Amino acid sequence: MARIRILPEILSNKIAAGEVVERPAAVVKELVENSLDAGSRRVSIEIGQGGRSLIRVSDDGSGMGRDDALLALERYATSKIFKDQDLFAIQSLGFRGEALPSIASVSRFTLVSREADADTATEITVEGGRIQKVVETGAPPGTMVSVRQLFFNTPARRKFLKTVATEMGHIADAVANIAMGWPGVQFKLTHNGKRVKSWPPAAAPLDRVADILGRELQPALQAFQFEDGHARGHGWVASARVTRTTSRGIFVYVNGRFVRDRVVQHALFEGFRGRLMKGQFPVGVLFVAVPFDQVDVNVHPTKHEIRFAHPKEVHDVIVKAVAHALQNADAPRWQPPATAFSAPRQLPPAADGTQAAEKTVAEPRPTFGHPPAAAASAAAPAAPLDLPAPAASSSPSAAAPPARQADLWRARRFGSLRVIGQLHATYIVCESPEGLILIDQHAAHERIFFEALKARRAGRSSQPSQRLLVPETVELGFREAQLLEGLLPRLAALGLEIEPFGGNTFAVKAVPAMLADGEIRPLVTALVEKMAETGLAPDVPAALDDCLMVIACHGAIRAHQTLSPAQIQSLLAQLDACDNPSHCPHGRPTWIQWSVRFLEKSFKRLA
Ligand code: ADP
Ligand code: MG
Repeated sequence: MARIRILPEILSNKIAAGEVVERPAAVVKELVENSLDAGSRRVSIEIGQGGRSLIRVSDDGSGMGRDDALLALERYATSKIFKDQDLFAIQSLGFRGEALPSIASVSRFTLVSREADADTATEITVEGGRIQKVVETGAPPGTMVSVRQLFFNTPARRKFLKTVATEMGHIADAVANIAMGWPGVQFKLTHNGKRVKSWPPAAAPLDRVADILGRELQPALQAFQFEDGHARGHGWVASARVTRTTSRGIFVYVNGRFVRDRVVQHALFEGFRGRLMKGQFPVGVLFVAVPFDQVDVNVHPTKHEIRFAHPKEVHDVIVKAVAHALQNADAPRWQPPATAFSAPRQLPPAADGTQAAEKTVAEPRPTFGHPPAAAASAAAPAAPLDLPAPAASSSPSAAAPPARQADLWRARRFGSLRVIGQLHATYIVCESPEGLILIDQHAAHERIFFEALKARRAGRSSQPSQRLLVPETVELGFREAQLLEGLLPRLAALGLEIEPFGGNTFAVKAVPAMLADGEIRPLVTALVEKMAETGLAPDVPAALDDCLMVIACHGAIRAHQTLSPAQIQSLLAQLDACDNPSHCPHGRPTWIQWSVRFLEKSFKRLA
């Protein structure tokens, strides 16, 4: 006896609903996408009880005639693709033809739709997937879909709904995600009759972006563009001083569709490499356009995932663009000395636009209760450090022809700061035209050392390495010895020469000159531990970068180390030569600024 049967359509729609209609926010997303596919300029979303009692999406799009409206409720009925090839060059947000029938199968559903040149609208009522009523009615051109009592006939699903506030949060996110990608379209969102958000059509895309990310972020945003044979696009990243603890500040659009794509997300993180600490997430918005036939959007029913035909090329062009934008975003913000040091000291920067940029730099609150011990001990003798004296004179007043002032400034931002001294033998205290700059000497020197090692690895410099008079032997465990063995050629290229010495013992023969005074054994152990922790093969660039960070950290001057004025000047000059002087290799900031304005406010000189 045959036991296999084809499922009735209502049941198969319910099964599809399991995937497409995960929660109220998914219904909102599908309906709004339909409105956009219909060319709407205005989309209004009304929600009742977090979507449990009502989800209504109205638009001013193309609308549907009676026959189309009826057909739209059939499974696999779509106006968006017709033939095989269309599936591999999707231009619309929808194409699967399953959203409306799925939603209608798990709710009490009404669709009212009118084409612009029609006299009347069609109203269709569906309950749990069964059409109850089809009537002519009066309505403005466009479409209105009302979904009441979602999951009324699937109690299991209904049970999984979270609180009204949680579901409403997901809905607001879903609407914001779409609204960001369609700045020219007006969106309105209400909850229980109250306005939650209204986005007018934005004159410039950045308006919508800033509105959704938060206006206070706007000064920290850096625009970028990119284009090569495989992808074209633009976006904004926030300076790495503005980070989040989740990926909620990341918005990625591919051909107008909001997606969670690992390739693009990874590229964004790569662009931020060296600027984020563990657990920090960047804030960024990316619009990527790829030829329609080079991206597969038919990966998952919710269409949140995609596949690129050329993921590596798309990835690399984004990394470059983001990294470049950040170089601008994270550059020190103080003014060139020519304009600034001549400005009156007590200048209260009254309601000005000129200092807007400074707001992007997190201004820490001063902490009270720390005795100002060890401050300004710059004159004390220091341990010998490999900090060669800077080439140029370090006096900020060194005259330069005005025409070249800007160039000179670019090269000597840190070198032209006035050094006040050292705080806690840990922070270098400087005066910038806008206020007070504190530089973390360890973080700064780590960055310098790290870039020097990188330059050497890339063959761009020949940082000297120093032979040890007596090779230092290090004994490791079996597994650690294996790891180090694999690393040896890479380390040699950095100037760290280590040779097997029998068994699990190694002999360190030479070290990069900057390391000459440091202890070797803890460094080698730390390197091996790092490799064990990352579990990456030593030829993977990320693993090598990790090694460089360990070496830089061990070689860098420590906190609680007194520096001479010459050493401080040398450090600042070398910081100026760095590609990314604002972060240590682990992503910590190398400097912070307290603006004059902030100080004056703290002292109540300014309201
Ligand atoms: P898909 O969007 O994948 O085609 P849907 O089930 O979401 O499938 O919608 C089915 C069809 O109904 C669409 O292809 C479209 O022709 C029509 N439709 C749905 N919503 C609207 C709308 N708001 N305005 C005009 N047409 C719509
Ligand atoms: Mg659709």
